[in-house]
Amino acid sequence: SSGSPRIAERLEEELNKRGLTELIKVFQPGCFGFCEKGPMIEIFPDNVTYCEVSEEDVTTIVEEHFIQGNLVEHLVFMDPNTKERFATNIPFYDGQLRIALRNVGYIAPENILEYIAADGYQALAKVLFTMKPFEVIDVLKQSGLRGRGGAGFPTGTKWEFTRKSEADQRYIICNADEGDPGAFMDRSVLEGDPHSVLEAMLIAGSAIGASEGFIYVRAEYPAAIHRLKIAIAQAREYGLLGKGILGSDFCFDIELKLGAGAFVCGEETALIHSIEGARGEPSVKPPFPAQKGLWGKPTCVNNVETLANIPPIILKGAEWFSAIGTEKSKGTKVFALAGKVNNVGLVEVPMGTTLRQIIFDIGGGIKQRKTFKAAQTGGPSGGCIPTKYLDSPIDYESLTAIGSMMGSGGLIVLDEDDCMVNIAKFFQEFTMDESCGRCTACRVGTKRLYEILTKITEGKASLEDLDNLERLCHIIKDTALCGLGQSAPNPILSTLKYFREEYIAHVVDKT
Ligand code: SF4
Repeated sequence: SSGSPRIAERLEEELNKRGLTELIKVFQPGCFGFCEKGPMIEIFPDNVTYCEVSEEDVTTIVEEHFIQGNLVEHLVFMDPNTKERFATNIPFYDGQLRIALRNVGYIAPENILEYIAADGYQALAKVLFTMKPFEVIDVLKQSGLRGRGGAGFPTGTKWEFTRKSEADQRYIICNADEGDPGAFMDRSVLEGDPHSVLEAMLIAGSAIGASEGFIYVRAEYPAAIHRLKIAIAQAREYGLLGKGILGSDFCFDIELKLGAGAFVCGEETALIHSIEGARGEPSVKPPFPAQKGLWGKPTCVNNVETLANIPPIILKGAEWFSAIGTEKSKGTKVFALAGKVNNVGLVEVPMGTTLRQIIFDIGGGIKQRKTFKAAQTGGPSGGCIPTKYLDSPIDYESLTAIGSMMGSGGLIVLDEDDCMVNIAKFFQEFTMDESCGRCTACRVGTKRLYEILTKITEGKASLEDLDNLERLCHIIKDTALCGLGQSAPNPILSTLKYFREEYIAHVVDKT
């Protein structure tokens, strides 16, 4: 969207004109994560990064950097607060630890050999030739890896449940139906390192006894789909999918299924129905997919980021992974940092990192030196965290305790100019539109919530409306069928809890 492909073409043209294409190779990796400063060009082995490159800058880079050997000063990163310039070691990457994103931005995702050169498919070989299925599951359980899609269920336990369900066929599904507004963690992994997801699905398949896997990916992610198709074809060509994988007796194949953009299809039972060709509506649990999932067979559904963590865990061991993070939340988490923050982008940090470290150290603070007001985490299912919790460690339990949730990793920063009632209304409109309509509490309840919020923002509400709003939130939370409805009131409840005076101001000021 920022024109990077055209810049890559121009770079090729300029190098070609000067006969430099044999000496200097251009390739387009996945996202570097530092979206605020894109398009970016990284030059190796010089280890120099140029930011906000335009087509016009390409000739300058070729002339000055490649031919004259000088740094193009005005294109290196400048810290907006200190005005200090960084050609290497950009502070945005300090404090980050890239496990799920380890290859994203560093390998050419359309070339399987680059993934293999980065230790790719070694974990699969280790699993197939040196480990038994229960040992693989045990490593995952010991590692403490929990689902990164939102709920945080222990991944090893999920695999164990699926393995233990008696059946002649089991399935593994990769949930790539990333739908939170502002979230692009999974898209970056799929676009930048698709083989890591394939390898993890193969490992899961061998551990749970599945011979078939599906990747359910949003049709709105054309680049991710394109690269997944290439990765699947290359994996087949290299004997990593199909019959007798790597000469073993393990058979496994992967099929892509495109979702049509319904947010509720990120819920695992709705996703399964969608793959089956039915309406994407959630069903009552139990039975859980691990017992009765796709076409009635035991099915393990894992999110993209969860899967991307698995090959390094197998290669480096459970102890290595469980040493990172907090007592109950191990490893790292990828966040899509957006909103009123200087360094918008994709960040991966150890669990337990504080919001302050993410927003002020990595994120570079609030735009235009304005005052931080709140951080919205967890997308439409999450809540708004006020200033007093800036030093809370980010992990599953801490976020839930302060009225938000980890969710899939959306993190939107709000400043002094943002109206918290409008923020709640924005997310409420989203969940109202995305309600599948199956149960009354969510279908009708989210509409009523939206109506009350509209009344408040139009200055037509009374204090009684506020009480009704809060009461209805709790009723919906208690009675909706699936996670979408149960969590839909969260943005309202958290803003009512921490920013009630803003709601009251709308009522009192205009009546
Ligand atoms: Fe559908 Fe909402 Fe009910 Fe979930 S809670 S089943 S999205 S109507």
